[in-house]
Amino acid sequence: MADAEKVDALVLGSGEGGKYLAWHLARSGQRVVVVERRWIGGSCPNINCLPSKNEIWSAKVADLVRHAGQFGTPTEAIAIDMAKVRQRKRAMVDGLIAMHLENYKASGAELVMGSGRLLAPRTIEVRLNEGGMRVFTASRVFLNIGTSPTMPDIPGLAAAEPLTHIEALDLDRLPAHLIVLGGGYVGLELAQAYRRFGSRVTVLDHGTRLARREDADIAELIRQILDKEGIEILLGAETLSVDGRSGDEIRLRIRTSAGETLVAGSDLLVAAGRSPNTSGIGLETIGINLDPRGYIAVNERLETSVSNVWAIGECAGSPQFTHASLDDFRIIRDNLAGGKRSTRDRLVPYCMFTDPPLARVGMNEDEARHSGIAVRVATMPAAAILRTRTIDERDGMLKALVAAGDDRILGFAMVGAEAGEVMAAVQTAMLAGLPYGVLRDAVLAHPTMAEGLGALFGKVPAREKA
Ligand SMILES: Cc1cc2nc3c(=O)[nH]c(=O)nc-3n(C[C@H](O)[C@H](O)[C@H](O)COP(=O)(O)OP(=O)(O)OC[C@H]3O[C@@H](n4cnc5c(N)ncnc54)[C@H](O)[C@@H]3O)c2cc1C
Repeated sequence: MADAEKVDALVLGSGEGGKYLAWHLARSGQRVVVVERRWIGGSCPNINCLPSKNEIWSAKVADLVRHAGQFGTPTEAIAIDMAKVRQRKRAMVDGLIAMHLENYKASGAELVMGSGRLLAPRTIEVRLNEGGMRVFTASRVFLNIGTSPTMPDIPGLAAAEPLTHIEALDLDRLPAHLIVLGGGYVGLELAQAYRRFGSRVTVLDHGTRLARREDADIAELIRQILDKEGIEILLGAETLSVDGRSGDEIRLRIRTSAGETLVAGSDLLVAAGRSPNTSGIGLETIGINLDPRGYIAVNERLETSVSNVWAIGECAGSPQFTHASLDDFRIIRDNLAGGKRSTRDRLVPYCMFTDPPLARVGMNEDEARHSGIAVRVATMPAAAILRTRTIDERDGMLKALVAAGDDRILGFAMVGAEAGEVMAAVQTAMLAGLPYGVLRDAVLAHPTMAEGLGALFGKVPAREKA
């Protein structure tokens, strides 16, 4: 074993929260080492959020150009150059990597490229990508090792070499017929993008609704919007077996309430959830407890079962978003400085970047019902907002949940143009504890999408008299 190098802080995995913590600690004078096996800056800039939103924007351009005649700019038949789509994405990623390397340099944190494994509670052995080993021991260790796409145990699936989002976001060709296994946000964003590039697309999900954490009305609206774009959607579809090879010819035997049938296509994308990168790296052997799903068990301060070892981001079971991982960093940073921050009751919003996008913050009706919380519900079609007429993007709806017994806003969901930006206004009101009437009565700029909040909150039913 190589001699152990002593440092103040070790970060395993350079995800969102981990890299910010490393830069912060290094700037404050500590010797910090970050161990990363592949993605400089973690998943978000390399293979997840930003590359997917980059390609989704290329697909939006294709869609706008295809319908440009409707806006008074007639075009000839359009062609899609997937090599150029990929090159634009790759150039963005290269720029982001350069930005990260600059941050490492400026902060003084050392980035070590290799695969890490825990030998003792605060000792990590690194198999270097360039060959050889290094061993580090530290006073504090932070685990930010993320998750990977789950590969369901379906006969023939692994042998079919399906795409995950990583390969799907790096194609320089257009699949003739893309079958997407999984109707969650990763599957739906890519399904719509490839449909807009020109692929035939089929989405299969074993559940009875798409985007299953959403209320039935929102999920059904998303289904209708995607259906209108020509995406074939099969719900309640259990995949029994797969044969063929993705990229060539692929056949899925599926069972629905109508019986068994074959779905055939050219390419298969698996978007069936995430699994934590926690196995085979010595976590259990050194006493770090995992939960039943294999995520690192942490308390609300993100401390693991071993003292001076924290976990951050997806591997710690935090909500699977970049901004949640970033907030994990802020919690640990502040607690190390004597603060008392916790993950409890934090308001974590999210967006699904389909077009129109979905944005949600707080609880939905299903969750309120399960928790026994009485709510008043207001809904409104996005088309009621006059802005949608100026841009011809009328699909969507807005939905607000207000407490039955007082005027707190408990949740907001929107499918519609600029949903993420509109949601931020509602989130701000929720954080400030403003009664819903403040948004209802606010003077909001015309004609914006946020203007619709006045009308939406105007529809909240009056409180029942006690
Ligand atoms: C297709 C897709 C799109 C997404 N889009 C969005 C979005 O729009 N908005 C949003 O908020 N979230 C999005 N997410 C989720 C988001 O990317 C993650 O929640 C976010 O990147 C935070 O991840 P993290 O900090 O937990 O770890 P990660 O960023 O995943 O970092 C973990 C790192 O650890 C490294 N690692 C793992 N094990 C080891 C080891 N043993 N040794 C060395 N290194 C190791 C990995 O290589 C990886 O770089 C998306 C996810 C996917 C799959």
